[in-house]
Amino acid sequence: MRYAAQRPLRICLGALALVIGGGAGCGSDTASPSLSSPGNSGGNAGTSVAGSSSGGATQDASPPGSAGQGGGTNLASLGPGGIGAAQSQPLSTLADACGGLATGLSIHEVAVYQTVKIAVDTDGTEIAAGSRNADVVTGRDAVFRIQVAVASGWTPRQLSARVWIRQSADATPTLFFSKATISASSVEADVKSTFQVTVPKDSIDLDTSYAVEVVECTSPAPAGDMVSPRFPAGTDFAAVGARSTGGLQVEIIPIMANGRLPDTSDTGLAIYKAIMLAMYPIDSFDLTVGAPMTLTTYPIDWVGALDQLRARRATDAPPAEVYYFGLVKPEDTLAKFCGNSCTMGIGYVTGTQSGAAQGRVAMGAGFGDSLSALVMPHEVGHNHGRNHAPCVTAGGMITGIDPNFPDPNGKDGVYGWDARSMALMGPTRTDVMGYCNSKWISDYTYQGLLEHVATVNAALSVYTVAPPPSAPSVSTLELHHVLLVDGKGPRWGIRHPVAMLPGGTPEMADILDASGKVLQQIEVYRTGISDLDASSIEIPAPRPGWVSVRVAGAPPIAFQR
Ligand SMILES: [Zn+2]
Repeated sequence: MRYAAQRPLRICLGALALVIGGGAGCGSDTASPSLSSPGNSGGNAGTSVAGSSSGGATQDASPPGSAGQGGGTNLASLGPGGIGAAQSQPLSTLADACGGLATGLSIHEVAVYQTVKIAVDTDGTEIAAGSRNADVVTGRDAVFRIQVAVASGWTPRQLSARVWIRQSADATPTLFFSKATISASSVEADVKSTFQVTVPKDSIDLDTSYAVEVVECTSPAPAGDMVSPRFPAGTDFAAVGARSTGGLQVEIIPIMANGRLPDTSDTGLAIYKAIMLAMYPIDSFDLTVGAPMTLTTYPIDWVGALDQLRARRATDAPPAEVYYFGLVKPEDTLAKFCGNSCTMGIGYVTGTQSGAAQGRVAMGAGFGDSLSALVMPHEVGHNHGRNHAPCVTAGGMITGIDPNFPDPNGKDGVYGWDARSMALMGPTRTDVMGYCNSKWISDYTYQGLLEHVATVNAALSVYTVAPPPSAPSVSTLELHHVLLVDGKGPRWGIRHPVAMLPGGTPEMADILDASGKVLQQIEVYRTGISDLDASSIEIPAPRPGWVSVRVAGAPPIAFQR
Protein backbone atom coordinates (compact mmCIF):
# COMPACT_ATOMS: atom_id res chain seq x y z
CA MET A 1 0.00 0.00 0.00
CA ARG A 2 1.30 3.43 -0.78
CA TYR A 3 0.49 6.63 0.96
CA ALA A 4 0.07 9.92 -0.85
CA ALA A 5 -0.42 13.41 0.35
CA GLN A 6 -2.60 15.57 -1.81
CA ARG A 7 -1.17 18.69 -3.25
CA PRO A 8 -1.79 21.46 -2.47
CA LEU A 9 -4.01 20.18 0.30
CA ARG A 10 -2.24 19.17 3.44
CA ILE A 11 -3.80 15.78 3.73
CA CYS A 12 -1.04 13.76 5.12
CA LEU A 13 -0.98 11.07 7.68
CA GLY A 14 -4.67 11.14 8.24
CA ALA A 15 -5.13 9.92 4.77
CA LEU A 16 -4.58 6.31 4.16
CA ALA A 17 -3.15 5.67 0.84
CA LEU A 18 0.26 4.92 0.12
CA VAL A 19 2.46 7.38 -1.66
CA ILE A 20 2.62 10.77 -0.17
CA GLY A 21 3.25 12.35 -3.50
CA GLY A 22 2.91 16.06 -3.06
CA GLY A 23 5.32 18.56 -1.72
CA ALA A 24 2.94 19.63 0.96
CA GLY A 25 4.36 19.39 4.41
CA CYS A 26 3.10 16.75 6.71
CA GLY A 27 3.11 17.20 10.38
CA SER A 28 1.82 14.81 12.93
CA ASP A 29 -1.11 12.51 12.50
CA THR A 30 -3.22 14.33 15.04
CA ALA A 31 -5.59 15.51 12.32
CA SER A 32 -6.22 12.02 11.12
CA PRO A 33 -9.80 11.15 10.45
CA SER A 34 -10.56 8.17 12.59
CA LEU A 35 -12.34 5.14 11.33
CA SER A 36 -14.45 5.30 14.39
CA SER A 37 -15.66 8.76 13.53
CA PRO A 38 -19.17 9.06 12.21
CA GLY A 39 -19.71 8.03 8.68
CA ASN A 40 -20.37 10.64 6.09
CA SER A 41 -23.71 11.20 4.45
CA GLY A 42 -25.15 12.28 7.72
CA GLY A 43 -24.75 8.93 9.33
CA ASN A 44 -24.71 9.21 13.04
CA ALA A 45 -22.05 7.96 15.30
CA GLY A 46 -22.32 4.79 17.20
CA THR A 47 -24.93 4.55 19.80
CA SER A 48 -24.65 3.05 23.19
CA VAL A 49 -24.94 -0.61 23.78
CA ALA A 50 -26.68 -2.02 26.75
CA GLY A 51 -25.18 -5.36 27.53
CA SER A 52 -27.05 -7.90 29.50
CA SER A 53 -26.07 -10.87 31.57
CA SER A 54 -27.91 -13.15 29.20
CA GLY A 55 -25.61 -12.17 26.40
CA GLY A 56 -28.40 -10.54 24.49
CA ALA A 57 -26.84 -7.17 24.05
CA THR A 58 -29.30 -4.79 22.54
CA GLN A 59 -28.38 -1.61 20.86
CA ASP A 60 -30.61 1.27 21.56
CA ALA A 61 -30.80 3.82 18.82
CA SER A 62 -32.69 6.32 20.91
CA PRO A 63 -31.04 9.53 22.02
CA PRO A 64 -29.42 9.23 25.42
CA GLY A 65 -31.94 9.59 28.13
CA SER A 66 -34.83 8.13 26.21
CA ALA A 67 -33.30 4.77 25.74
CA GLY A 68 -34.99 1.63 26.80
CA GLN A 69 -32.98 -1.19 28.24
CA GLY A 70 -32.34 -4.17 26.10
CA GLY A 71 -31.60 -7.74 26.78
CA GLY A 72 -31.99 -11.25 25.59
CA THR A 73 -34.88 -13.22 26.95
CA ASN A 74 -35.26 -16.88 26.45
CA LEU A 75 -38.93 -17.56 26.22
CA ALA A 76 -38.86 -20.96 27.78
CA SER A 77 -42.60 -20.84 28.18
CA LEU A 78 -43.20 -20.33 24.50
CA GLY A 79 -43.06 -23.25 22.15
CA PRO A 80 -42.78 -23.12 18.38
CA GLY A 81 -45.08 -20.51 16.98
CA GLY A 82 -45.32 -18.93 20.37
CA ILE A 83 -44.75 -15.50 18.96
CA GLY A 84 -48.41 -14.97 18.36
CA ALA A 85 -49.04 -15.64 21.99
CA ALA A 86 -46.37 -13.18 22.95
CA GLN A 87 -48.00 -10.44 20.97
CA SER A 88 -51.22 -10.71 22.84
CA GLN A 89 -49.65 -10.68 26.24
CA PRO A 90 -50.00 -7.50 28.25
CA LEU A 91 -47.13 -5.04 28.48
CA SER A 92 -44.22 -5.84 30.78
CA THR A 93 -44.31 -9.60 30.66
CA LEU A 94 -41.34 -9.67 28.27
CA ALA A 95 -37.97 -8.09 28.83
CA ASP A 96 -38.82 -5.01 26.80
CA ALA A 97 -41.95 -4.39 28.84
CA CYS A 98 -43.81 -3.74 25.61
CA GLY A 99 -46.45 -5.63 23.68
CA GLY A 100 -49.07 -5.52 21.00
CA LEU A 101 -48.09 -5.15 17.36
CA ALA A 102 -47.65 -1.53 16.36
CA THR A 103 -50.48 0.16 14.50
CA GLY A 104 -50.09 2.57 11.60
CA LEU A 105 -46.64 1.25 10.80
CA SER A 106 -45.01 -1.20 8.42
CA ILE A 107 -41.57 -2.71 8.30
CA HIS A 108 -39.90 -1.25 5.22
CA GLU A 109 -36.63 -3.13 5.36
CA VAL A 110 -34.73 -5.61 7.47
CA ALA A 111 -30.99 -5.76 6.89
CA VAL A 112 -28.34 -7.83 8.63
CA TYR A 113 -25.08 -6.04 9.28
CA GLN A 114 -21.96 -7.91 10.31
CA THR A 115 -19.63 -5.66 8.30
CA VAL A 116 -21.64 -4.62 5.24
CA LYS A 117 -25.37 -4.19 4.80
CA ILE A 118 -27.16 -7.34 3.66
CA ALA A 119 -30.86 -6.69 3.04
CA VAL A 120 -32.98 -9.75 3.89
CA ASP A 121 -36.48 -8.27 3.59
CA THR A 122 -37.84 -5.38 1.56
CA ASP A 123 -41.45 -4.38 2.19
CA GLY A 124 -42.41 -7.89 3.17
CA THR A 125 -40.58 -9.64 0.35
CA GLU A 126 -37.89 -11.97 1.55
CA ILE A 127 -34.43 -11.77 0.02
CA ALA A 128 -33.18 -15.28 0.59
CA ALA A 129 -29.59 -16.49 0.80
CA GLY A 130 -28.26 -16.87 -2.71
CA SER A 131 -30.02 -13.70 -3.88
CA ARG A 132 -28.20 -11.34 -1.54
CA ASN A 133 -25.26 -9.02 -2.16
CA ALA A 134 -23.17 -10.89 0.41
CA ASP A 135 -23.47 -13.81 2.78
CA VAL A 136 -24.25 -13.75 6.48
CA VAL A 137 -21.49 -15.59 8.35
CA THR A 138 -22.01 -17.96 11.27
CA GLY A 139 -20.37 -17.11 14.56
CA ARG A 140 -20.28 -13.34 13.99
CA ASP A 141 -22.25 -10.75 15.90
CA ALA A 142 -25.05 -9.46 13.71
CA VAL A 143 -26.93 -6.18 13.90
CA PHE A 144 -30.47 -6.43 12.56
CA ARG A 145 -31.31 -2.98 11.26
CA ILE A 146 -35.00 -2.30 10.82
CA GLN A 147 -36.43 0.57 8.83
CA VAL A 148 -40.08 1.43 9.28
CA ALA A 149 -42.61 3.45 7.30
CA VAL A 150 -45.39 5.22 9.18
CA ALA A 151 -48.86 6.15 8.01
CA SER A 152 -50.06 9.73 7.74
CA GLY A 153 -51.19 11.18 11.03
CA TRP A 154 -48.53 9.21 12.90
CA THR A 155 -48.22 9.95 16.58
CA PRO A 156 -44.54 9.92 17.66
CA ARG A 157 -43.99 7.35 20.40
CA GLN A 158 -41.66 4.76 21.75
CA LEU A 159 -41.71 1.34 20.12
CA SER A 160 -39.74 -1.83 20.53
CA ALA A 161 -38.32 -3.77 17.60
CA ARG A 162 -38.09 -7.41 18.49
CA VAL A 163 -35.90 -9.91 16.71
CA TRP A 164 -36.87 -13.46 17.54
CA ILE A 165 -34.08 -15.93 16.93
CA ARG A 166 -34.66 -19.63 16.60
CA GLN A 167 -31.64 -21.94 16.42
CA SER A 168 -33.62 -24.70 14.74
CA ALA A 169 -37.20 -25.33 13.64
CA ASP A 170 -38.20 -26.87 16.94
CA ALA A 171 -36.15 -24.65 19.22
CA THR A 172 -37.60 -22.13 21.62
CA PRO A 173 -37.17 -18.64 20.18
CA THR A 174 -35.02 -16.09 21.98
CA LEU A 175 -35.88 -12.42 22.07
CA PHE A 176 -33.50 -9.58 21.30
CA PHE A 177 -34.86 -6.09 21.07
CA SER A 178 -34.16 -2.40 20.85
CA LYS A 179 -36.42 0.50 21.67
CA ALA A 180 -36.59 3.81 19.86
CA THR A 181 -38.89 6.77 19.71
CA ILE A 182 -40.17 6.83 16.15
CA SER A 183 -41.36 10.23 15.01
CA ALA A 184 -41.45 9.65 11.26
CA SER A 185 -40.59 7.10 8.61
CA SER A 186 -37.00 5.86 8.81
CA VAL A 187 -34.21 7.60 6.94
CA GLU A 188 -31.44 5.14 6.18
CA ALA A 189 -28.60 7.50 6.95
CA ASP A 190 -30.00 8.25 10.41
CA VAL A 191 -29.57 5.51 13.03
CA LYS A 192 -31.92 7.39 15.34
CA SER A 193 -34.77 6.79 12.91
CA THR A 194 -34.15 3.06 12.65
CA PHE A 195 -33.87 0.17 15.07
CA GLN A 196 -30.56 -1.59 15.58
CA VAL A 197 -30.86 -4.92 17.36
CA THR A 198 -27.68 -6.80 18.14
CA VAL A 199 -27.84 -10.57 17.98
CA PRO A 200 -24.74 -12.18 19.50
CA LYS A 201 -22.51 -14.45 17.48
CA ASP A 202 -23.50 -17.60 19.34
CA SER A 203 -27.03 -17.15 17.99
CA ILE A 204 -25.99 -17.04 14.33
CA ASP A 205 -25.66 -20.62 13.20
CA LEU A 206 -26.34 -22.60 10.02
CA ASP A 207 -29.95 -23.35 10.91
CA THR A 208 -30.83 -20.07 12.58
CA SER A 209 -34.09 -18.44 11.56
CA TYR A 210 -35.61 -15.13 12.59
CA ALA A 211 -38.75 -13.07 12.79
CA VAL A 212 -38.97 -9.31 13.30
CA GLU A 213 -41.87 -7.44 14.85
CA VAL A 214 -42.41 -3.89 15.99
CA VAL A 215 -44.57 -3.51 19.10
CA GLU A 216 -46.10 -0.69 21.10
CA CYS A 217 -44.53 0.40 24.37
CA THR A 218 -47.33 2.60 25.63
CA SER A 219 -50.71 1.46 26.89
CA PRO A 220 -53.16 2.15 25.56
CA ALA A 221 -51.52 2.62 22.17
CA PRO A 222 -52.96 5.24 19.79
CA ALA A 223 -55.78 3.83 17.73
CA GLY A 224 -54.94 2.95 14.16
CA ASP A 225 -55.01 0.25 11.54
CA MET A 226 -52.51 -2.57 11.62
CA VAL A 227 -50.42 -2.38 8.48
CA SER A 228 -47.40 -4.67 8.36
CA PRO A 229 -45.49 -4.61 11.62
CA ARG A 230 -44.09 -8.12 11.38
CA PHE A 231 -41.79 -9.99 9.01
CA PRO A 232 -42.55 -12.64 7.96
CA ALA A 233 -46.28 -12.10 8.33
CA GLY A 234 -48.24 -14.32 10.67
CA THR A 235 -46.15 -16.58 12.85
CA ASP A 236 -43.59 -17.71 10.31
CA PHE A 237 -39.85 -17.51 10.62
CA ALA A 238 -37.40 -16.80 7.79
CA ALA A 239 -33.98 -18.43 7.41
CA VAL A 240 -30.99 -16.27 8.26
CA GLY A 241 -29.18 -18.37 5.68
CA ALA A 242 -25.82 -17.99 7.36
CA ARG A 243 -22.74 -19.66 5.95
CA SER A 244 -19.75 -21.03 7.82
CA THR A 245 -16.43 -19.62 6.61
CA GLY A 246 -14.12 -20.41 9.52
CA GLY A 247 -11.37 -18.30 11.01
CA LEU A 248 -8.22 -16.57 9.92
CA GLN A 249 -4.75 -17.26 11.28
CA VAL A 250 -2.00 -14.69 10.98
CA GLU A 251 1.54 -15.18 12.21
CA ILE A 252 3.09 -11.82 12.96
CA ILE A 253 6.79 -11.60 12.19
CA PRO A 254 8.35 -8.60 13.95
CA ILE A 255 10.76 -7.06 11.47
CA MET A 256 13.93 -5.45 12.77
CA ALA A 257 14.58 -2.48 10.48
CA ASN A 258 16.82 0.50 11.08
CA GLY A 259 17.58 -1.06 14.46
CA ARG A 260 13.96 -0.92 15.58
CA LEU A 261 11.24 -3.47 16.27
CA PRO A 262 7.48 -2.88 16.39
CA ASP A 263 5.41 -3.42 19.51
CA THR A 264 4.07 -6.96 19.26
CA SER A 265 2.76 -7.25 22.80
CA ASP A 266 -0.91 -8.19 23.20
CA THR A 267 -1.61 -4.52 23.82
CA GLY A 268 0.37 -3.44 20.78
CA LEU A 269 -1.40 -5.89 18.51
CA ALA A 270 -4.91 -5.20 19.81
CA ILE A 271 -5.60 -2.50 17.21
CA TYR A 272 -4.81 -4.89 14.33
CA LYS A 273 -6.84 -7.70 15.81
CA ALA A 274 -9.84 -5.44 16.28
CA ILE A 275 -9.95 -4.17 12.72
CA MET A 276 -9.49 -7.61 11.19
CA LEU A 277 -12.34 -9.02 13.25
CA ALA A 278 -14.56 -6.05 12.43
CA MET A 279 -13.86 -6.10 8.71
CA TYR A 280 -13.22 -9.71 7.66
CA PRO A 281 -15.92 -12.36 7.09
CA ILE A 282 -14.49 -14.71 9.70
CA ASP A 283 -15.67 -16.23 12.96
CA SER A 284 -12.30 -15.97 14.71
CA PHE A 285 -8.96 -14.27 14.27
CA ASP A 286 -5.92 -16.04 15.61
CA LEU A 287 -2.88 -13.80 15.92
CA THR A 288 0.43 -15.36 16.89
CA VAL A 289 3.92 -13.86 17.02
CA GLY A 290 6.97 -15.55 15.56
CA ALA A 291 10.68 -14.87 15.99
CA PRO A 292 11.88 -11.53 14.60
CA MET A 293 13.41 -11.17 11.15
CA THR A 294 16.13 -8.64 10.43
CA LEU A 295 16.46 -6.43 7.35
CA THR A 296 20.04 -5.59 6.56
CA THR A 297 19.37 -2.48 4.50
CA TYR A 298 17.56 0.76 5.16
CA PRO A 299 15.58 2.43 3.61
CA ILE A 300 13.52 -0.71 3.17
CA ASP A 301 13.85 -2.72 -0.03
CA TRP A 302 10.20 -3.77 0.08
CA VAL A 303 10.27 -6.36 -2.69
CA GLY A 304 13.44 -7.91 -1.29
CA ALA A 305 12.05 -7.85 2.25
CA LEU A 306 8.84 -9.56 1.12
CA ASP A 307 10.94 -12.20 -0.63
CA GLN A 308 12.90 -12.72 2.59
CA LEU A 309 9.64 -13.13 4.48
CA ARG A 310 8.36 -15.59 1.87
CA ALA A 311 11.52 -17.68 2.27
CA ARG A 312 11.04 -17.53 6.03
CA ARG A 313 7.53 -18.92 5.70
CA ALA A 314 8.73 -21.64 3.34
CA THR A 315 11.40 -22.67 5.85
CA ASP A 316 8.98 -22.60 8.78
CA ALA A 317 6.50 -24.64 6.70
CA PRO A 318 3.39 -23.74 8.69
CA PRO A 319 -0.01 -25.19 7.81
CA ALA A 320 -1.33 -23.96 4.47
CA GLU A 321 -3.97 -21.69 6.01
CA VAL A 322 -1.49 -19.62 8.05
CA TYR A 323 -0.78 -16.14 6.70
CA TYR A 324 2.51 -14.43 7.53
CA PHE A 325 2.48 -10.71 8.16
CA GLY A 326 5.71 -8.79 8.73
CA LEU A 327 5.24 -5.80 10.97
CA VAL A 328 7.77 -3.04 10.49
CA LYS A 329 8.41 0.17 12.44
CA PRO A 330 11.75 1.57 11.31
CA GLU A 331 11.33 4.99 12.94
CA ASP A 332 9.77 6.18 16.17
CA THR A 333 6.81 7.72 14.41
CA LEU A 334 4.93 7.26 11.20
CA ALA A 335 5.47 10.92 10.36
CA LYS A 336 9.22 10.52 10.58
CA PHE A 337 9.17 7.33 8.54
CA CYS A 338 6.77 8.50 5.88
CA GLY A 339 7.63 12.11 5.28
CA ASN A 340 5.84 13.18 2.13
CA SER A 341 5.84 9.82 0.41
CA CYS A 342 6.17 6.26 1.49
CA THR A 343 5.25 2.69 0.91
CA MET A 344 3.29 1.38 3.87
CA GLY A 345 2.74 -2.20 2.89
CA ILE A 346 3.16 -4.87 0.26
CA GLY A 347 1.88 -8.38 -0.31
CA TYR A 348 1.50 -11.15 -2.85
CA VAL A 349 -1.73 -11.29 -4.83
CA THR A 350 -2.43 -14.96 -4.41
CA GLY A 351 -5.10 -17.48 -5.30
CA THR A 352 -6.40 -20.63 -3.69
CA GLN A 353 -4.73 -23.27 -5.86
CA SER A 354 -2.25 -25.81 -4.58
CA GLY A 355 1.10 -24.16 -4.05
CA ALA A 356 -0.43 -20.73 -3.48
CA ALA A 357 -0.02 -21.10 0.26
CA GLN A 358 3.63 -20.06 0.00
CA GLY A 359 2.39 -16.65 -1.15
CA ARG A 360 0.27 -16.05 1.93
CA VAL A 361 2.79 -13.44 2.94
CA ALA A 362 2.49 -9.68 3.36
CA MET A 363 4.08 -6.93 5.40
CA GLY A 364 3.24 -3.45 6.47
CA ALA A 365 3.76 -0.48 8.74
CA GLY A 366 3.29 -1.24 12.43
CA PHE A 367 3.14 2.09 14.20
CA GLY A 368 0.06 1.09 16.17
CA ASP A 369 -2.03 3.98 14.86
CA SER A 370 -5.29 3.93 12.92
CA LEU A 371 -3.47 4.41 9.63
CA SER A 372 -1.14 1.45 10.19
CA ALA A 373 -4.11 -0.63 11.30
CA LEU A 374 -5.68 -0.30 7.86
CA VAL A 375 -2.58 -1.68 6.17
CA MET A 376 -3.16 -5.21 7.45
CA PRO A 377 -6.66 -5.73 6.01
CA HIS A 378 -5.46 -4.19 2.73
CA GLU A 379 -2.32 -6.32 2.35
CA VAL A 380 -3.87 -9.52 3.67
CA GLY A 381 -6.65 -8.69 1.20
CA HIS A 382 -4.07 -8.97 -1.58
CA ASN A 383 -3.17 -12.40 -0.14
CA HIS A 384 -6.86 -13.21 -0.63
CA GLY A 385 -6.60 -12.49 -4.33
CA ARG A 386 -7.97 -8.97 -4.12
CA ASN A 387 -6.65 -6.31 -6.46
CA HIS A 388 -7.06 -2.58 -6.01
CA ALA A 389 -10.27 -0.58 -5.85
CA PRO A 390 -9.96 2.33 -8.30
CA CYS A 391 -9.45 5.15 -5.83
CA VAL A 392 -6.43 7.33 -5.18
CA THR A 393 -5.96 10.75 -3.63
CA ALA A 394 -5.26 13.64 -5.96
CA GLY A 395 -1.71 13.58 -7.27
CA GLY A 396 -1.14 9.96 -6.32
CA MET A 397 -1.12 6.88 -8.48
CA ILE A 398 -2.34 3.34 -8.15
CA THR A 399 -1.69 0.21 -10.19
CA GLY A 400 -3.13 -3.28 -10.13
CA ILE A 401 -6.74 -2.12 -10.33
CA ASP A 402 -9.46 -4.75 -10.29
CA PRO A 403 -11.33 -4.24 -13.59
CA ASN A 404 -14.46 -5.77 -12.06
CA PHE A 405 -14.70 -3.41 -9.10
CA PRO A 406 -18.30 -2.18 -9.29
CA ASP A 407 -17.86 1.50 -8.43
CA PRO A 408 -15.71 3.52 -10.86
CA ASN A 409 -14.49 5.70 -7.99
CA GLY A 410 -13.70 2.89 -5.59
CA LYS A 411 -16.55 3.69 -3.22
CA ASP A 412 -18.22 1.04 -1.07
CA GLY A 413 -21.65 1.63 -2.56
CA VAL A 414 -23.47 0.14 0.43
CA TYR A 415 -23.85 1.01 4.07
CA GLY A 416 -21.62 -0.76 6.52
CA TRP A 417 -21.26 -1.30 10.22
CA ASP A 418 -18.10 -0.99 12.29
CA ALA A 419 -18.53 -3.28 15.28
CA ARG A 420 -15.59 -1.63 17.05
CA SER A 421 -17.46 1.62 17.50
CA MET A 422 -20.99 0.42 16.71
CA ALA A 423 -21.06 3.09 14.02
CA LEU A 424 -22.88 3.18 10.73
CA MET A 425 -20.54 3.56 7.76
CA GLY A 426 -21.88 5.58 4.85
CA PRO A 427 -21.96 4.16 1.31
CA THR A 428 -19.68 6.92 0.00
CA ARG A 429 -16.80 5.68 2.09
CA THR A 430 -14.11 4.11 -0.04
CA ASP A 431 -13.08 0.50 -0.21
CA VAL A 432 -10.21 -0.83 1.89
CA MET A 433 -8.50 -2.04 -1.29
CA GLY A 434 -8.08 1.51 -2.61
CA TYR A 435 -5.73 4.32 -1.62
CA CYS A 436 -8.33 6.90 -0.62
CA ASN A 437 -9.31 8.25 2.76
CA SER A 438 -12.39 7.36 4.73
CA LYS A 439 -12.02 3.65 4.34
CA TRP A 440 -14.47 0.91 5.11
CA ILE A 441 -15.20 -2.12 2.91
CA SER A 442 -17.54 -2.74 -0.01
CA ASP A 443 -19.86 -5.74 -0.22
CA TYR A 444 -17.91 -6.68 -3.36
CA THR A 445 -14.61 -6.96 -1.51
CA TYR A 446 -16.26 -8.51 1.55
CA GLN A 447 -17.85 -11.29 -0.48
CA GLY A 448 -14.60 -11.82 -2.38
CA LEU A 449 -12.74 -12.27 0.90
CA LEU A 450 -15.52 -14.53 2.13
CA GLU A 451 -15.24 -16.91 -0.80
CA HIS A 452 -11.47 -17.05 -0.41
CA VAL A 453 -11.58 -17.69 3.34
CA ALA A 454 -14.20 -20.39 2.87
CA THR A 455 -12.18 -22.07 0.12
CA VAL A 456 -8.91 -22.02 2.05
CA ASN A 457 -10.54 -23.38 5.19
CA ALA A 458 -12.58 -26.00 3.34
CA ALA A 459 -9.39 -27.21 1.67
CA LEU A 460 -8.08 -28.22 5.08
CA SER A 461 -10.47 -31.10 5.27
CA VAL A 462 -10.32 -31.90 1.57
CA TYR A 463 -6.54 -32.24 1.45
CA THR A 464 -6.49 -34.75 4.26
CA VAL A 465 -8.41 -37.10 2.00
CA ALA A 466 -6.92 -36.55 -1.44
CA PRO A 467 -5.36 -33.75 -3.46
CA PRO A 468 -7.80 -31.89 -5.70
CA PRO A 469 -8.01 -33.10 -9.30
CA SER A 470 -6.63 -29.77 -10.49
CA ALA A 471 -3.33 -30.20 -8.65
CA PRO A 472 -0.29 -29.64 -10.86
CA SER A 473 1.64 -32.68 -11.98
CA VAL A 474 4.48 -33.98 -9.87
CA SER A 475 6.95 -32.81 -12.49
CA THR A 476 6.46 -29.23 -11.33
CA LEU A 477 7.45 -30.20 -7.82
CA GLU A 478 11.00 -28.97 -7.70
CA LEU A 479 13.48 -26.54 -6.25
CA HIS A 480 12.47 -23.38 -8.06
CA HIS A 481 14.60 -20.33 -8.36
CA VAL A 482 12.75 -17.10 -7.65
CA LEU A 483 13.08 -14.10 -9.93
CA LEU A 484 11.96 -10.70 -8.68
CA VAL A 485 10.92 -8.17 -11.31
CA ASP A 486 10.13 -4.57 -10.47
CA GLY A 487 10.89 -1.11 -11.81
CA LYS A 488 14.61 -1.77 -11.33
CA GLY A 489 14.49 -4.81 -13.59
CA PRO A 490 14.99 -8.50 -12.80
CA ARG A 491 17.04 -9.83 -9.89
CA TRP A 492 17.25 -13.16 -8.17
CA GLY A 493 15.46 -13.69 -4.91
CA ILE A 494 15.82 -16.50 -2.41
CA ARG A 495 15.46 -20.02 -3.80
CA HIS A 496 12.84 -22.34 -2.48
CA PRO A 497 14.39 -24.15 0.48
CA VAL A 498 12.63 -27.39 -0.41
CA ALA A 499 10.97 -28.77 -3.50
CA MET A 500 7.42 -27.47 -3.69
CA LEU A 501 4.60 -26.88 -6.10
CA PRO A 502 4.75 -23.51 -7.82
CA GLY A 503 2.39 -20.92 -6.42
CA GLY A 504 2.10 -18.57 -9.35
CA THR A 505 0.17 -18.46 -12.60
CA PRO A 506 1.90 -20.32 -15.49
CA GLU A 507 3.33 -18.38 -18.44
CA MET A 508 6.10 -19.00 -20.93
CA ALA A 509 9.66 -17.67 -20.74
CA ASP A 510 12.69 -17.91 -23.05
CA ILE A 511 15.79 -19.87 -22.11
CA LEU A 512 18.92 -18.44 -23.78
CA ASP A 513 22.34 -19.92 -24.43
CA ALA A 514 25.70 -18.19 -24.07
CA SER A 515 25.27 -16.41 -27.41
CA GLY A 516 21.86 -15.09 -26.48
CA LYS A 517 20.05 -17.49 -28.79
CA VAL A 518 16.73 -18.90 -27.63
CA LEU A 519 17.22 -22.57 -26.77
CA GLN A 520 13.70 -23.33 -25.72
CA GLN A 521 10.65 -21.98 -23.97
CA ILE A 522 9.73 -23.16 -20.53
CA GLU A 523 6.82 -22.68 -18.18
CA VAL A 524 7.42 -20.28 -15.30
CA TYR A 525 5.01 -19.18 -12.60
CA ARG A 526 4.24 -15.54 -11.84
CA THR A 527 2.77 -14.15 -8.64
CA GLY A 528 1.89 -10.47 -8.58
CA ILE A 529 3.26 -8.26 -5.82
CA SER A 530 0.87 -5.54 -4.83
CA ASP A 531 1.44 -1.82 -4.56
CA LEU A 532 4.82 -1.67 -6.31
CA ASP A 533 3.77 -3.16 -9.64
CA ALA A 534 6.22 -6.02 -9.17
CA SER A 535 6.25 -9.78 -9.65
CA SER A 536 7.81 -12.84 -8.10
CA ILE A 537 8.41 -15.55 -10.71
CA GLU A 538 9.23 -19.16 -9.96
CA ILE A 539 11.61 -20.64 -12.52
CA PRO A 540 12.83 -24.25 -12.72
CA ALA A 541 16.45 -24.76 -11.68
CA PRO A 542 18.78 -24.39 -14.73
CA ARG A 543 19.49 -27.46 -16.86
CA PRO A 544 22.83 -28.00 -18.62
CA GLY A 545 23.31 -25.37 -21.33
CA TRP A 546 20.85 -22.89 -19.88
CA VAL A 547 22.68 -19.60 -19.43
CA SER A 548 19.99 -17.02 -18.94
CA VAL A 549 16.23 -16.60 -18.82
CA ARG A 550 14.01 -13.88 -20.24
CA VAL A 551 10.55 -13.41 -18.74
CA ALA A 552 7.85 -11.18 -20.18
CA GLY A 553 8.44 -7.50 -19.51
CA ALA A 554 12.09 -7.78 -18.47
CA PRO A 555 15.54 -8.15 -20.07
CA PRO A 556 17.38 -11.49 -19.81
CA ILE A 557 19.17 -12.36 -16.61
CA ALA A 558 21.89 -14.99 -16.17
CA PHE A 559 21.13 -17.97 -13.99
CA GLN A 560 22.94 -18.30 -10.70
CA ARG A 561 24.20 -21.79 -10.05
ZN1 LIG B 1 -2.40 -2.59 -2.35
